[in-house]
Amino acid sequence: MKIGIVEKPGVLKIAERDVPRVQNSTDVLIKVKRVGICGSDIHIFHGKNPFAVYPRVWGHEFVGEVVETGSGVKTVTKGTHVVVEPIVFCGTCYACRQGRGNICESLKVMGVHIDGGCQEYIVVSEANVHILPDSLPWDEAVLIEPFTIGAQACYRGNVQKGDFVLVMGAGTIGLTALQMTKLAGATVIVTDLVPEKLAYAKTRGADYIINAKEENLFEKVREITGGMGSNVTIDAVCNKKSFEDCIEITSAAGRVVELSFNESPSEIAPVNIIKKELTICGSRLQTKRFPVVIDYLKQGKLPLTGFVTKTYPIEQMVEAFEYVDANSASVRKVVITMPGI
Ligand code: MN
Repeated sequence: MKIGIVEKPGVLKIAERDVPRVQNSTDVLIKVKRVGICGSDIHIFHGKNPFAVYPRVWGHEFVGEVVETGSGVKTVTKGTHVVVEPIVFCGTCYACRQGRGNICESLKVMGVHIDGGCQEYIVVSEANVHILPDSLPWDEAVLIEPFTIGAQACYRGNVQKGDFVLVMGAGTIGLTALQMTKLAGATVIVTDLVPEKLAYAKTRGADYIINAKEENLFEKVREITGGMGSNVTIDAVCNKKSFEDCIEITSAAGRVVELSFNESPSEIAPVNIIKKELTICGSRLQTKRFPVVIDYLKQGKLPLTGFVTKTYPIEQMVEAFEYVDANSASVRKVVITMPGI
């Protein structure tokens, strides 16, 4: 079978490997249908993901059809359409005991620490699959994982109906945060520097858009929120300045949700946190968000029109990565189609 592998930083190839076999009673063999390319895959390709171990079959956003199951598998059978939850955790460390396997002390992410979904077939544990309706197109199903990231930001920020949410950045993750916070009943403001991205955010339900290049972000947000500031601010810009801006613009009793892996320290005076009693939280991967996103899709509440920018067959995987690299400002999601549609 074909696999897409980053042999070492900068070297991305299509290679051949034997089809994996069901070995454990809880194993599920899946024929992969689609794999989404994430910004983090590009970082792995360029050697800029501190967690990646090489050589690595990339891909943590993938969907497919079950072709074989271990003797103990109960929830899926041959032919079931599934999305794979790409995290493997121990279940016993402190974080796991809190129900937060996404930050397990021995966390393994498929496509990062262990091999991922860019292969024609993959074996995963039954615990890692979520059932999809057969009617859901693969090109939409492959977007579930990215939307769980937005769902996690919404959950971590404890977004309530009626809250003003500011989403900083209208890239892929910012857009998923926008759609999930809208579904939670918030009034959502999106800011970015690129007019096209803001225009698309508007079509995805943004109540207000602010081009921070042309308008004063702080003034504008205060104007929209009656002087209060945003109740929840989600940082999907992820630089030193954006984190500082989040602290500044968030209202009293507000929440700041940080999505950045940036290592540059920001300058934040503690008084600016304490005077508003801000809650600042990280949001990494997701925990228990797959069912949330799948339910929204089942109910037809999560329109995904236009979210996939381009699709490539696996044979053109390298071109697909080059396309994402060259168009990082405008790409929302590029998807790889596996053989056999
Ligand atoms: Mn991703």
